[in-house]
Amino acid sequence: MLRLDQDIKYLQGVGPVRADLLGKELDIKTVGDLLAYYPYKYIDRTHFYRIADINGTMPYVQLIGQILSFEEFGEGRKRYLKAHFSDGTGVVDLVWFQGAKYIVEQYKLHTPYIVFGKPQPFKGRYSVSHPEMEEAPTAVSQPLAAGEGGGTLFQEALPQVELAPETRAAIHTVSATGGGGAAAVFPFRPHYHTTDRMKKRGLASAQVAKLTAKLLEMLDQTLPETLSQWLVDKHHFLSRDEALRNIHYPQSADLLRRAQARLKFEELFYVQLNIVRYVKDRSRKFRGILFPRVGQVFNDFYFNHLPFPLTNAQKRVVREIRADMGSGRQMNRLLQGDVGSGKTLVALMCALIAIDNGYQACIMAPTEILAEQHVETLRKFLGDMPVTVQLLTGSVKGKRRKEVLDGLITGQTNITVGTHALIEDNVQFAHLGLVVIDEQHRFGVAQRAKLWQKNLTPPHVLVMTATPIPRTLAMTLYGDLDVSVIDELPPGRKPIQTIHQYDSHRRTLYAGMRRQLELGRQIYIVYPLIKESEKMDLKNLEDGYKQICEAFPDCSVSKVHGQMKPAEKDVEMQRFASGETQILVATTVIEVGVNVPNASVMVIENAERFGLSQLHQLRGRVGRGADQSFCILVTKPGISNDTRRRIQIMVDSTDGFEIAEQDLKLRGPGDLEGTQQSGIGFDLKIANLARDGIILQMARDDAQYVVDNDPAEAAPVNAILWQRLRELRKTNINWGSIS
Ligand code: ADP
Ligand code: MG
Repeated sequence: MLRLDQDIKYLQGVGPVRADLLGKELDIKTVGDLLAYYPYKYIDRTHFYRIADINGTMPYVQLIGQILSFEEFGEGRKRYLKAHFSDGTGVVDLVWFQGAKYIVEQYKLHTPYIVFGKPQPFKGRYSVSHPEMEEAPTAVSQPLAAGEGGGTLFQEALPQVELAPETRAAIHTVSATGGGGAAAVFPFRPHYHTTDRMKKRGLASAQVAKLTAKLLEMLDQTLPETLSQWLVDKHHFLSRDEALRNIHYPQSADLLRRAQARLKFEELFYVQLNIVRYVKDRSRKFRGILFPRVGQVFNDFYFNHLPFPLTNAQKRVVREIRADMGSGRQMNRLLQGDVGSGKTLVALMCALIAIDNGYQACIMAPTEILAEQHVETLRKFLGDMPVTVQLLTGSVKGKRRKEVLDGLITGQTNITVGTHALIEDNVQFAHLGLVVIDEQHRFGVAQRAKLWQKNLTPPHVLVMTATPIPRTLAMTLYGDLDVSVIDELPPGRKPIQTIHQYDSHRRTLYAGMRRQLELGRQIYIVYPLIKESEKMDLKNLEDGYKQICEAFPDCSVSKVHGQMKPAEKDVEMQRFASGETQILVATTVIEVGVNVPNASVMVIENAERFGLSQLHQLRGRVGRGADQSFCILVTKPGISNDTRRRIQIMVDSTDGFEIAEQDLKLRGPGDLEGTQQSGIGFDLKIANLARDGIILQMARDDAQYVVDNDPAEAAPVNAILWQRLRELRKTNINWGSIS
């Protein structure tokens, strides 16, 4: 009997070499890992097509026929082999560019074969390069009768070869097991993602499919259930055994659909159960710090120092936060608000409430530049009020650092602004009451939990983001937080005009920039960050910098990139912010938060290389003053349709939420800016947050129901659930570390 925890190398057909490859490339180490490695698509192998009916729109065809003759063409490295293949209705050419000798030896003439591949027109005939080939079982070698059938895989119904049922059965057996002759009949062939290294070593999708077929054949026991029976019944799910077997080798389109539904639900359900249970646990373990009053500091600021009236959205959000902090529960709130909606001011006012109640506040920013800018902004807002604001980043060193740390532990410092340096263990506060986390998508549940060890009673936590997070994503990434939204921009802002421009039209671009410079405005030019090659990055940026200096000889140009020392960066940023330089050439270091109201043009080079959310963030750097602002998305001329669509979304919309939804749909959640290391839920194997919103909601509701109705986690009907959750928490580090 095959066990799921057995080393994959013991599965027949694997062995030590392939086991090593599977482990290194796909992290498949046990039999169970392979079972949980699902296909990404399926190809319907029930239908056979007549060669006479092939047309150029078919993605794949499956044919049955015989090789009439082989022919070799070309010379040296350009040599290739052709086989003329006929089914009696026409001839296609099977083509190999490698391994001619092996092919000629391997395949016999005038012997029935099943051929599968992509047909392409070539010199008046169709050819199929490097087809998948299998010898057809003898039952198929009868002359074939042509007839009409209903195509399912292909868009349009195509006439197909009709086979006798027993012939069909025989073929499916061959298809599924590669000639092994297993008893099962499978109409769909699974396709698995493999890596280049695997393909080079003969472990492509087809071979993985043989391994999963073998695996299912060997697993003669029924696979244990991992959901409570009441949940399976409630949703009419397949059992886990049926679902796993059908996800690899579906017996019908309907069973495939049901297998997917069950496995998606299960995946999302456990993520949600983990979150919901954690939230309950947290509120039971920790009482929050009570901020009963709004006092003198807040009121002094509100009545005497507020530079402009709050927007209604800002007022509402401050009220929501105040209610949270005055409730005695610990606040865990996500504040979403588009770029420029005025979140900093909200953060400050919340900090003032903490101060009024005798507590300190800290604000965590993702970069040093931003932290420094926050300090400056806050000090300007506060004016001569007796509130101390200090900076703590990695570059605050030596004596100065000691002073800052002293200020925290003695309680002298009211508000500390910093980077990740703030959560280091040696940073101790006298009485930290509020933590604001600004623009940090990577700051997941586990990291937030770390903040609490700074106090006996955990501080209130406010997470602020301008990256509009679609609901489904928020439920997973920030599923433990309450949500507030600033859905209104301060008055007087003109919508930014967004323009797509090809980089071949540089002259037009520069003319436009010049007009803005003549009006006294400033300009950002941003280059993408190439993660794989920091050198290339820099070269792009340096070339661009040179080009700009030549095109605008009368202007001062600043340059900022990730490889500069923080202090150098800072000097350049300051020069731009103060208006000393008119143009800032930079990589994405300026993405979040930087505020220069006089800058009215954002030029984004190689815009095709940015995600939509990132483009939106960058665009938000302009349009902060009262002037008409522009965002120019520069791409090369020959962009794909997909890229064109993404650029068009930016041109058409300035609504961050809409853009985020579109981004999620186009790219899938795994690719969304900054979500990869977010902490939970992104190693989803089968569920898709962009498409499976309804299943996610079901999973959330059921998880909530379970936690509410079985608080002791002891109900026999849920024993399976709690057991499974414990197992998952053991194998998923991120899950395990959040409580
Ligand atoms: P974000 O939400 O992107 O962090 P900021 O807090 O940086 O936005 O605010 C953007 C700009 O809007 C700042 O210059 C800020 O002073 C200004 N601002 C904030 N609130 C208001 C308001 N109620 N009325 C006018 N301007 C405001
Ligand atoms: Mg901000």
